[in-house]
Amino acid sequence: MAKRDFYEILGVARSASQDEIKKAYRKVAMQFHPDRNPNNKDAEEKFKEAAEAYEVLSDPDKRGQYDRYGHAGVGTSASSSGSGGMRMEDIFANFGDIFGDDLFGNIFGGGQGRGGRRAQGSRGSNLRVKIRLNFAEIARGANKKIKVKKYIPCNVCGGSGAKDRNAMQSCPTCGGSGQVKRVSQTFLGQMQTVTTCPTCHGEGHVITSKCPNCKGEGRVYGEETVSVDIPAGVQEGMQLSLSGKGNAGERGGPPGDLLILIEEEAHTDLHRDGLNVAYDLYVSFPDATFGTQVEVPTIDGKAKIKIPQGTQPGKIFRLKGKGFPGVNTYEKGDQLIHVNIWTPQHLSPEEKAMMEKMQHSENFRPKPDKSEKGFFDRIRDIFN
Ligand SMILES: [Zn+2]
Ligand SMILES: [Zn+2]
Repeated sequence: MAKRDFYEILGVARSASQDEIKKAYRKVAMQFHPDRNPNNKDAEEKFKEAAEAYEVLSDPDKRGQYDRYGHAGVGTSASSSGSGGMRMEDIFANFGDIFGDDLFGNIFGGGQGRGGRRAQGSRGSNLRVKIRLNFAEIARGANKKIKVKKYIPCNVCGGSGAKDRNAMQSCPTCGGSGQVKRVSQTFLGQMQTVTTCPTCHGEGHVITSKCPNCKGEGRVYGEETVSVDIPAGVQEGMQLSLSGKGNAGERGGPPGDLLILIEEEAHTDLHRDGLNVAYDLYVSFPDATFGTQVEVPTIDGKAKIKIPQGTQPGKIFRLKGKGFPGVNTYEKGDQLIHVNIWTPQHLSPEEKAMMEKMQHSENFRPKPDKSEKGFFDRIRDIFN
C-alpha cells in the first residue's frame, strides 16, 4: 500500500498557507479522534496519518523537502504500514499548541486522562488579616474597607512576567505541552511516565526577556483596598474566607485567599454571653424600694426600663431580642439586666442616724416568701 499524499490526507491544496494547514488538521484530527471513535482501527490509522502529515507540512523545512522529493525527502517512505513511527502519545502531546488551551480542554478534556491543561504559574499564598468589630457592628453586620499589603498582578506585563509578546516562547524542552515523558526500566519492563516539564514547570512556555517592572514574576508587592462584608452575628475567633483576595500568583497563577479573623472589641458596660448580652444594673436602696425608671445601655443605643417598687437584688429583667443575632439563623439573643442594690459605703452622721432608726423597724427585716424566687430558681429561668 503506497503512502497517501500529505496534502490529500489533510484535504488542502499544495499552495495552502500554514494557517489553512493547521485548520485542516484540526478538522481531520477531531473527526478521527479516538475519543470519538472508540475501538475503531481505521479511524486510529487515519488519525495517525493526519498527525504525520501535519508534522511535516507544519514545518517549512520539512515541507520543502517533501514538496521536492516526496515521502523519501522526509524519511517516511520506508513503511507503508502505519505512520512512520509516530506514537499516539506524541500526537496528544502536541495538541496543546494546535488546538490552544481552551479548545484542548473543552474537546478532549476528561477523555482518557491524557494531557490536561497546562499549569498557569504558581498559585499565590493565602493571607490572614484581623478585623476588630464593636458590638454594634457585630449585631448589624458591617462592611469594612481594609488596606491589604500583598502581591498584586504586575500591570506592566499583565501578570505574564514577559517583557513583551515576543519575549514569551514555547518551551523548547516540552514543545509547549508542559509535560515530558520519561521511560524507565522496571522489573515489569519499560514504563512510561508523564511528568511536569522541569524547564517551564508545566507552563508550556519560557520567558526569554523578563518584564523589568516585576522581574519576571508577574506580580509586585503593593497594596489593595478590599471591601469585606461581614455578616451579622460573627464571634471572636471566627474566620471568614474571601476567595481569590490573597496574594497574586506568579506569572498569571491563581491568587490565594484572604482569611479574615474576627476580633471582638470589649464593650465598656455590656458582656457577651453567647447570643445574650448581660448588663449589671446598680439601683439605690430607696429607688429599689419606691420603684423608678432607669436608662440602660444596649448594643444599639439606650433603653428605658421600669424598676417596680420593692425590687429585690438579683432580679433579672429581660429585653427580648436585644441580644446578638446568630450567623445565618433567625435566632436572636436577649439582653439580661441584672439588678444589684447599692449598699452605701460611707454615711454622714445624719444618714447614720436615719439608718439606725430604720434598723429595728419591722418592715426592714428580711422576710422572703414563697413567691420570691431564690438564686437557683433565677439561674434556671435564664437558661430555660
Ligand atoms: Zn511585569
Ligand atoms: Zn516545558
